[in-house]
Amino acid sequence: MKRAVIFEAGRAGLVDAPMPSPKEDWALVKILATPMCTEYKRFVTGPGLEYMGHEAAGEVVEVAQPCKVKPGDRVVVMPHYPCGKCDLCVAGDFIHCENSYDFAGFTGSREGSSTYAQYMLKPSWLLPVVPDDVSIDMASLALCALGPSFSAFYTMGVNAFDTVLICGAGPVGLGAIVNACYLGARVIVMEGNSWRSERARLLGADVILNPGNPNNLEAIKHLTHGKGVDKALDCSGVLAAQRFCLDAVRRKGHVTFVGESTQELPVTVSPDLIRKGISLSGAWHYNLSLFPLIMQVIQNSLVVRHLISHTLPMSQVQQAFEISASRQCAKIILKPWE
Ligand SMILES: [Zn+2]
Ligand SMILES: [Zn+2]
Repeated sequence: MKRAVIFEAGRAGLVDAPMPSPKEDWALVKILATPMCTEYKRFVTGPGLEYMGHEAAGEVVEVAQPCKVKPGDRVVVMPHYPCGKCDLCVAGDFIHCENSYDFAGFTGSREGSSTYAQYMLKPSWLLPVVPDDVSIDMASLALCALGPSFSAFYTMGVNAFDTVLICGAGPVGLGAIVNACYLGARVIVMEGNSWRSERARLLGADVILNPGNPNNLEAIKHLTHGKGVDKALDCSGVLAAQRFCLDAVRRKGHVTFVGESTQELPVTVSPDLIRKGISLSGAWHYNLSLFPLIMQVIQNSLVVRHLISHTLPMSQVQQAFEISASRQCAKIILKPWE
């Protein structure tokens, strides 16, 4: 089979790789869509990378024993290799599992762990089946494009009475706009990149603020009768934007972070949490029970298709990485068989 690799900074291409084979309750999935995510960062900085990616959708082609899927099933491939047995896994919060499989230790090699490939392996319980009327490319949006923000909004109870601030309109933030609009909220977006601001507007953002403007807090107050937004979601991972979410949210508001950062966010217990009464949370992926709801967003949203800006053959992975690194894009879908 073919697998895409980063050879070194700025150079990617395909290699021939051995076919992985399933064991126990794992399935072999023929990958038909690979949404690109943060891998471009490694493409820019190097060093090379042999196995990469965590987002895929495709068709089950082989199982080792009767399990939760069968050959022919069209599935979304959930990220990671969680144990499936701990309390978190059983509850559907597998992304937080602390006992994940050692992939190579279990299967005998790392082959089958990459989504930038024609085939991969996955425990069958992490392969939710795609409804017949949803294409594989659209189904693949039920990973980082729509997943983290859907989980955040579900936790925060976002609805049509809310004004929601979304900081950062990369692929995750753009997906957040789709979800917030689907839930009926008024959406304020903070984004400086003009390509992404334009796409944010196309997806339904009501107001777009430029992070370089020093008067953004006043603008938010003006838009919310002096109160602040009801809920805020940071998709940027930028410290200033994370702090802006805390300042822009109203008293008793809720802030959720999905943009990753290792920088320390200054939060004061008394003014921010006790006196202002705000709730803080983080969202990484989503509880497995939310999969049918995310499928409904994909089935019913009138704008969700605009989350995919490029669809490219995996044989053009070099060009795809260059587009991804340019940030002139929403979600890019690689087609491993083209
Ligand atoms: Zn587990
Ligand atoms: Zn991702």
